[in-house]
Amino acid sequence: MTTSVHAHRSPNPGNITAPPAVQALSVTKTYGRDATRVTALREVSVGFEAGRFTAIMGPSGSGKSTLMHCLAGLDTADSGRVLVGGTDITGLGDKQLTALRRDRIGFVFQAFNLVPTLTAEQNITLPLALASKATDTAWFDSVVATLGLKDRLSHRPHELSGGQQQRVAVARALLTRPDVVFGDEPTGNLDSTAGGEVLALLRRSSREMGQTIIMVTHDPVAASYADRVVLMSDGTLVGDIAGPTADSVLAALGKLGG
Ligand code: ADP
Repeated sequence: MTTSVHAHRSPNPGNITAPPAVQALSVTKTYGRDATRVTALREVSVGFEAGRFTAIMGPSGSGKSTLMHCLAGLDTADSGRVLVGGTDITGLGDKQLTALRRDRIGFVFQAFNLVPTLTAEQNITLPLALASKATDTAWFDSVVATLGLKDRLSHRPHELSGGQQQRVAVARALLTRPDVVFGDEPTGNLDSTAGGEVLALLRRSSREMGQTIIMVTHDPVAASYADRVVLMSDGTLVGDIAGPTADSVLAALGKLGG
């Protein structure tokens, strides 16, 4: 006999098969007060589907970084809610947010943020070591192979190129199998060849490993590696492009500017 258990799932607009990996619900964030008050986010609602690679784009000051920081538990919204992997992070305290970021979120920043005295391998496994967790060797090998780092594991960051250093940072982010990896201009310090390699690897980790990735960028070429681009302007979402190309992103940005 069939049951109707699935019919009683909570409503899930936009995707009926699985809840978004990350979701903002009517998030508002202001900075400063009175004359210097700036509304960085105005009731932003957006969901990020699991296993997808999404780029957040928009003019400088449109609220991209603020949105990313609120989604990643690095900053708190004034109102609205943020859900990460089904957990409402809005009411979490500092300790819980630190644990959430350590255990469930991966970060790849513009500055690679590797520990200079540690080898590539030690940098990659550092988050697990800090959490006193054992490394899943098979997963480590798979991540390292995917990122082409097998021959570089005993190198220290200064012995690696910028592109290689960022690949180590990506491996470090993927190793904990986080609910989401956030990239903040991850190719901002790389030349176009090394940047393209890192972006292709991010895309590959979403396609082959099912990794959810959200990347803030101002570069239409970088955004074209994503499955989806959400466009921001003046603290609100103003566009959503599926299957973006550098040209379609540029055209959409051009309309915002004009
Ligand atoms: P973007 O990442 O798109 O460049 P931001 O999210 O950094 O935009 O900024 C959005 C708005 O919020 C801007 O007007 C910016 O000046 C303001 N803002 C961001 N961070 C702060 C802060 N810590 N204090 C005051 N204003 C801020």
